Amino acid sequence: MKENRTLMQYFEWYLRPENKLWQKVIANANYLEAIGITDVWLPPAYKAAGGNQDAGYAAYDLYDLGEFNQKGSIETKYGTKDEYLQAINELHRNNIEVYADIVLNHKIGADEPETVYASEEENKNRNIDTSLPKKITAWTKYNFTSRNNKYSDFKWNYKHFNGTDWDESGRKNGIFRFSGKHWDQNVDKENGNYDYLMGADVDFNNPEVVEELKNWGKWYLEFTGVDNFRLDAVKHIKSDFMADWIRSMKEVKDIKCVGEYWNRDLETLKNYIERTNSTIPLFDVPLHYNLYEASNASGNYDMARIFDKTLVKHRPQLAVTFVDNHDTEPGQALFSWVQEWFKPLAYALILLRKDGLPCVFYGDYYGIPSQNIKPMEEKLEDLIKVRKYFAYGEQIDYLDDCNIIAWVRTGDKEHQDSGLITIMSDGPGGGKTINVGANLANTVFYDYTGNVKENVYVDNEGNGIFYCNGGSVSVWVKKGNIYS
Ligand code: CA
Repeated sequence: MKENRTLMQYFEWYLRPENKLWQKVIANANYLEAIGITDVWLPPAYKAAGGNQDAGYAAYDLYDLGEFNQKGSIETKYGTKDEYLQAINELHRNNIEVYADIVLNHKIGADEPETVYASEEENKNRNIDTSLPKKITAWTKYNFTSRNNKYSDFKWNYKHFNGTDWDESGRKNGIFRFSGKHWDQNVDKENGNYDYLMGADVDFNNPEVVEELKNWGKWYLEFTGVDNFRLDAVKHIKSDFMADWIRSMKEVKDIKCVGEYWNRDLETLKNYIERTNSTIPLFDVPLHYNLYEASNASGNYDMARIFDKTLVKHRPQLAVTFVDNHDTEPGQALFSWVQEWFKPLAYALILLRKDGLPCVFYGDYYGIPSQNIKPMEEKLEDLIKVRKYFAYGEQIDYLDDCNIIAWVRTGDKEHQDSGLITIMSDGPGGGKTINVGANLANTVFYDYTGNVKENVYVDNEGNGIFYCNGGSVSVWVKKGNIYS
């Protein structure tokens, strides 16, 4: 029996080394499988510039998965290499696939500086030089002496990068493009050319770099056994490289992937999907912002338009839907936290629909103590289970009102007692007459969330009146179903 897939982002930004994430994964894999999590996205597992205090995006040594004494510790923020491998193993034992978080765009924390000629660029338009080439001292030499050539003897130097943001000798911040290099084309067009993000920017036009990153990717897949990739910062990496890299990874095994292209403009995302031949599904950033705005509109959002200009509406096969993530948390770079009252509605909007691979965020599930965000464990567990048991069959939409919207999943033969009616309001509560289709006619329904206590009776023709409270969601399933 084919079950709906549900991805979980298993980390948040403010985790501490003492939270021992890999151990938590090992302890919880069985439980995650039981509630309906089929895929887990684990954070960057290799040594980053900040050692065991670093979330992992300041990538230093991609071959050090918490094995070598580099950057002040053997372990990463999440644990040691052995714990990581064991966590993957434990997830696999529970039929959960693993998405590994891959940071290829930049490197940070070089072992030695080098003298390089570079031109300074206008920050708001990186196609414009504001200086002639001059000597700068750039942190670009990576020796990895403690690793001592284990797994790879590749050493990075300035030739493998396009530019950087710090001149050590001049003690100056800026955007420095190395002489003889040009920014990668086929990147996001913000700031003229958004190739440069941070640290030492990897030059994907350098054949040594391309070869090394393919070697590393193959090593990573074989060494760790991860199934899939979450690709960081793809808007800063030339799209042809990314498509080519994914192609070579698929020669090793049939991986899936999801790209982080942080842009809320649907056309930009569609364009990237086209340029990468539909091989890289993307996070649905436009939907995240719709949810964020709806949560901040005090009941005045036009809920009939909640899916307008989203990836899941226009590229349903290539959308990974999410509510929040480690970057949208309070205090983070892309802060746009969906307000708590709206979270159950938002999760119903991603978990109970036909389209998109939904991604549940650790910070919503377990809470974020450092930011006073409370856990929603029980509510989310309910919705994930409803997805697993009932969210099957065709979808009949009632996205026809600025406050109260609803949809039906008609259920299918393969999943006994499946089918549901989701109804929600960002304003006042109320009811809606809904035709649930022939399959669910003549049935008694109850609200799985417990928000509305009364039963709903659907007549022979399939008509019933379903209810939700104000600023709330109700999910109606068959009374007396095999799971109750
Ligand atoms: Ca770049």
